[in-house]
Amino acid sequence: MSYALRQAAKNHLVRYGGDVFPNLFRSAKGTIVTDSDGREYLDFTSGQMCATIGHNHPAIVEAVNRAGKKAFHFFSGMIPEVVAELGLKLAQDWLPGDIQKTIFVNTGSEASEVALRMAKMYTDGYEVLALGGSWHGITGGASTVSMASDRKGYGVPAPGVFVIPEPNAYRPYIQGMTVEEAALANLDLALKMFDMQSSGRGAAIIVEPVISAGGVLVPPKPFMQALRKAADDRGMLLIFDEAQTAFGRIGTRTGSEYFGVVPDIMTMSKTLGGGLPLAAVATTAKIEEVLYNRHFTYYTSHVSDPLGAEVGLAVLKVIEEEGLVARANEMGAYLRGRFEELQQRYEVIGDVRGLGLLVGVELVRDRASRAPAHELGALTTAKCFENGLSMNIRRRPERGSVWRIAPPLTVSTDEIDRAVDILEKSLRDSFDQMTARGTA
Ligand code: PMP
Repeated sequence: MSYALRQAAKNHLVRYGGDVFPNLFRSAKGTIVTDSDGREYLDFTSGQMCATIGHNHPAIVEAVNRAGKKAFHFFSGMIPEVVAELGLKLAQDWLPGDIQKTIFVNTGSEASEVALRMAKMYTDGYEVLALGGSWHGITGGASTVSMASDRKGYGVPAPGVFVIPEPNAYRPYIQGMTVEEAALANLDLALKMFDMQSSGRGAAIIVEPVISAGGVLVPPKPFMQALRKAADDRGMLLIFDEAQTAFGRIGTRTGSEYFGVVPDIMTMSKTLGGGLPLAAVATTAKIEEVLYNRHFTYYTSHVSDPLGAEVGLAVLKVIEEEGLVARANEMGAYLRGRFEELQQRYEVIGDVRGLGLLVGVELVRDRASRAPAHELGALTTAKCFENGLSMNIRRRPERGSVWRIAPPLTVSTDEIDRAVDILEKSLRDSFDQMTARGTA
């Protein structure tokens, strides 16, 4: 069976990129995913960073069943009760500052499209500043403002996109300054260039509170405050892409809360649906009113679907009831501590960084040169998988080789210990293998 299906996958599925495992997969529960041979793996990527409350949490299964008894889908002009309920819940308990009004869509890419459409219509501008290493999605507008990878070969991107060099404490673009000074100096220069080049029609600055695909980079707080000011000074809107950072992952309710900066538009996705496709874009009542008066449209087949909202409400309830925001801090500190121990013993672990349970571990050939250890990273990640741990490594020549470690917030210390043991063993085996080959 499993061989036949593997052949079917090979012959009939489009290969869509990324690191694809050789096996097929069947089921998932909590921190464990199971392949079609019944082998279990610790999932330290929370699926695609979505399953923050653990895979197939009973509350999500119940929510899907509840929607099955009521409705999965309506005409898009019929607002489901449960969507109103989720809008209220977000406004009351989760959204920062005066952000009060939300639209519900499906994926993170789509949320970025909504945010950009809003900002362009509100400002009557089109110019967007995005950060180096950013990832806001794969669809037309979202990919235009995504710098992490995969830009080449897809035709002409939308005009008016400008890049701010991303703050990277471990690999700063400007040397000889503090991390904060270097981040602000980069921003200052980028804004000078932008002002020089701008046609005067700025729309937005878009930023991830933690630049995740770009290597789990946490900007210094004054950098985010400076972005807020840069947007205000130019009549542009500040968009926070909180696909990964909202709802507890980084140990605060949102990235906005961590930085003490309130954006004009906030996008949420992965961590709201807990594994089901649900995304949201929220803004202030004032901005929403202006957009409405200008006939803002984002009318799609699955906007405001009740299925997603039912699930989103369940996810938020679990996060509250199980105290997962605090738990992200607690387990994050434990996980980080374990990696810092490894760092003491392995020269190749150059940097351990992140917030809460979003942790980046950067591999280098040696600490003095900080040369990225791409081969070791790839080999160790493959060995981790063979040994029962699913990990994600981000590899770019300019940004190094970084493991992005993000288990569900429900992860236990025992699961963390098992994962770190597997990782250590895989690292040693990879090192031995490379030494034998003479490539270490
Ligand atoms: N924004 C961020 C910060 C993301 O990490 C991602 C997904 N990696 C997206 C947007 C796009 O989300 P999706 O893949 O759901 O379209």
